[in-house]
Amino acid sequence: MSDLLTPITSSAQFQFGWKLCAFFYIIFTVALIFWTWRDADRRGGMAWFWAVVVLLFNVPGWIIYMVVRPPEYLEDAHERELEIRAAETRLSRDGATCPSCLKRVEPDYLICPYCMKKLKKPCVNCGRALKMSWGVCPYCKTKQTAGEVADAMAPAHTTPREPGPAKPKA
Ligand SMILES: [Zn+2]
Ligand SMILES: [Zn+2]
Repeated sequence: MSDLLTPITSSAQFQFGWKLCAFFYIIFTVALIFWTWRDADRRGGMAWFWAVVVLLFNVPGWIIYMVVRPPEYLEDAHERELEIRAAETRLSRDGATCPSCLKRVEPDYLICPYCMKKLKKPCVNCGRALKMSWGVCPYCKTKQTAGEVADAMAPAHTTPREPGPAKPKA
């Protein structure tokens, strides 16, 4: 049998074909290892471990990796986390955080006690805390006129103290 095959296996065409196959096999393996390493790296998996697994077991190792790999890219997970945090910040800014100094405030505060920023305006009729942009009180249906809004936004006037009697010089 081997005598019959010898002329074929030793022929130049067969040698060339065999080398070509080996060449493509090596290229394919290297590409597969690189792809697995990069994919595992982007997903935060054990990139070098999986590269070695694919190096040792080739396609079966790659199939195992495809089954057990992390479901999403790290950057996608990071992006989603950022979006959630941004949404939380947006929510908290609407109510319980001063937009200026970011300290916690109660939803009905008119002014931030830390940085003196105007947070809400009092209703001209019932005095409840309204958003600066509201033109009407949702509690008592009273229209908030521009003048009163401006008045509400102005800082409280403090009467200047009368200068006391000059101290007698020692
Ligand atoms: Zn503040
Ligand atoms: Zn009101």
